Amino acid sequence: MEPVKGGIRYALSVHQDEVEALAALMTYKCALVETPFGGSKGGLCIDPRQWDEHELEQIIRRFAYELIKRDLIHPAQNVPAPDMGTGEREMAWIADQYARMNTTDINAKACVTGKPPHAGGIQGRVEATGRGVQFALREFFRLPEDIAKANLSGGLEGKRIVVQGLGNVGYHAAKFLSEEDGAIITAIIERDGALVKDTGLAVEDVRQWIAKHGGVRGFPEAEFVEDGASVLEKTCDILIPAAMEGVIHRGNAARISAPLIIEAANGPITFGADEILREKGCVIIPDLYANAGGVTVSYFEWVKNLSHIRFGRMQRRAEESRSRLLVEELERLSADRGLGWTLAADFKEKFLTGSDELALVRSGLDDTMRTAYQAMREVWHSRPEVGDLRVAAYIVAIDRVAQTYRSKGL
Ligand code: GLU
Repeated sequence: MEPVKGGIRYALSVHQDEVEALAALMTYKCALVETPFGGSKGGLCIDPRQWDEHELEQIIRRFAYELIKRDLIHPAQNVPAPDMGTGEREMAWIADQYARMNTTDINAKACVTGKPPHAGGIQGRVEATGRGVQFALREFFRLPEDIAKANLSGGLEGKRIVVQGLGNVGYHAAKFLSEEDGAIITAIIERDGALVKDTGLAVEDVRQWIAKHGGVRGFPEAEFVEDGASVLEKTCDILIPAAMEGVIHRGNAARISAPLIIEAANGPITFGADEILREKGCVIIPDLYANAGGVTVSYFEWVKNLSHIRFGRMQRRAEESRSRLLVEELERLSADRGLGWTLAADFKEKFLTGSDELALVRSGLDDTMRTAYQAMREVWHSRPEVGDLRVAAYIVAIDRVAQTYRSKGL
């Protein structure tokens, strides 16, 4: 499948085996959420906090230059995106580097996703992975049978959540779940330690504190725990590892008490830990599904770049006038028959305004997360030999890859 797709990360722990494993994971992730991509990944072994902005620009431009001249960054071959340590700024530099080296390529902007909106990006990409985690949990908590498998009951409201990592993914997931779904963030684990507060942490305040002080230590009105990793074991309803791989391993898996874990990061649970957790009856919503919101919205961005038209440009006014027709007809009927019906002003406004780009992106992401979950759970519940959602996710993904090959006559 080409183009291949995946993020470029900056971390001192980056190494070839890891990048290959993450690229393979992208292959299954893309298939599971029905994006027409193969998998890829890139990594630079640097700590971005140790470099100035102009140095970071030189580093990524040089890296991009080497890849672009080999067609290893190309709208039809390999389309990178942000990952750990990289973001919109890096993607804008890559896009600019590609445009300089391919001055006549009409699809140049589609060579990378996760660009800022003013540089050809799409609304809603920054928060997409966190939003996807929220949509995944919402879908899970719509299904009593699945909730019961995790020994939980009720909805998301009031659920106690421990989040590891308040980077782009963890921050947005925790923010949306606490501000929009009534979940309680009882602990946040960061690089320098963890914050614990059973009545719930204000995610936005913690984020601001980290931006100002470089860590969570000293944040008022919460207990600080120096040994952050130990907080993974804290009693809660949902654990969201959103930092890096391998944080739940043979050494701590038996002590993890969360009945439900959603892998917002890639590969946070090792193979050994997965076995231990499964035996304990813990339900794991696997990475290839849980964090697929990022690549899903990347797909929308790539399509937008290739189509050279902004979303909704053709249909927005047509939809609006159809809605207006309906509203006017309802009002006419009510007046004609003397029924005295009036449509609520806010209903009229909502109904008459066509969807903007952000609304379309959210709707596409929500639909993707729901559809993929349904496909996985169907396999999980209907085949006794499939013991968990991870195996189910891989079965669905592999089946979709096979379908693609068949449809190409391969
Ligand atoms: N780095 C993200 C991931 O691991 C996003 C990849 C993309 O948007 O292509 O899924």
